[in-house]
Amino acid sequence: RAKLHPSRKVCFYEPSMDAEIRQKREIANALSHAMEHDQLELHYQLQASVQSGKVCGMEALLRWTHPTMGPVSPAVFIPIAEEYNLIIALGEWVLNRACRDAASWKDGQKVAVNLSPLQLMQVELPRIIHQNLIETGLAPHRLEVELTETAILSDRDRSLHILRQIKALGVCVALDDFGTGYSSLEILRAFPFDKIKLDRFFMTEIETSNASKAMVRSVLSLGKNLKIPVLAEGVETELQLDFLREEGCDEIQGFLLGRPEKLAEAIRNSVNTLAIQEPEDCEDDDKV
Ligand code: C2E
Ligand code: MG
Ligand code: MG
Ligand code: MG
Repeated sequence: RAKLHPSRKVCFYEPSMDAEIRQKREIANALSHAMEHDQLELHYQLQASVQSGKVCGMEALLRWTHPTMGPVSPAVFIPIAEEYNLIIALGEWVLNRACRDAASWKDGQKVAVNLSPLQLMQVELPRIIHQNLIETGLAPHRLEVELTETAILSDRDRSLHILRQIKALGVCVALDDFGTGYSSLEILRAFPFDKIKLDRFFMTEIETSNASKAMVRSVLSLGKNLKIPVLAEGVETELQLDFLREEGCDEIQGFLLGRPEKLAEAIRNSVNTLAIQEPEDCEDDDKV
């Protein structure tokens, strides 16, 4: 594709750009057939309460296995789906499957579903969510939708309006990847979030950086003061968990508790508990 320089009227042509666009178009094309060809699957990652050590929810994470390309990461195909107008259909598939899966769990754990910013621009979204709840019989409070700040920043009034309608259904709303990107504290005041998910970037840093520790403490106290529970993403080590526990973090999610896995495995592992630190004689062998 040629790029026109406005002032000098010279065409710049880069072959690599062409290849990239062609590849993206190929992926988009393959993705548009993924649903009907049964190539999509939801994996679930456990979330646990720090205080009780018990699993309290699972996040649904989309997986795509192409017959020749193999597994494609959502970090690759979600942006393409957004660019090529596939995200609405994909998002509806995820919502429906996640609600159906969650309705089949005997115990009342929550299921968290990621929403694309483009889904939040859709006025029909609350109705679609409502319909899914009715169809699957899932109690509204067992569904949590996850949004990032970018979802809100593109059109504040519209997204606030849609978000309020979703909340009115009894569905929970979590702010995903908090603390990176264009985080504005004002968003926490203006929008009715039920949970803050602290970006996993901070976990990779807290073992080595005092500044990161200080930031995590600040977010946790912010959550306390606003009465919004905070979940730490990307918890991989006992050391990180110990720190979070001491600082009063509400929930965790991460490889320490479990990787995203198939539904049956996630259900099997949901009876596991985090090792609870007891004052004395702490037995460590029941941890996950
Ligand atoms: P996210 O919503 O922030 O999801 C968390 C990501 O962190 C997941 O990557 C998960 O596998 C990974 N993760 C969890 N614990 C750990 C850990 O302890 N260490 C490390 N290194 N990573 C951890 P995944 O599954 O590749 O998904 C990437 C992103 O793709 C998600 O970030 C989300 O933004 C998007 N995504 C995934 N599924 C969907 C979906 O159904 N719809 C939409 N719109 N986006 C989705
Ligand atoms: Mg998420
Ligand atoms: Mg996240
Ligand atoms: Mg993310």
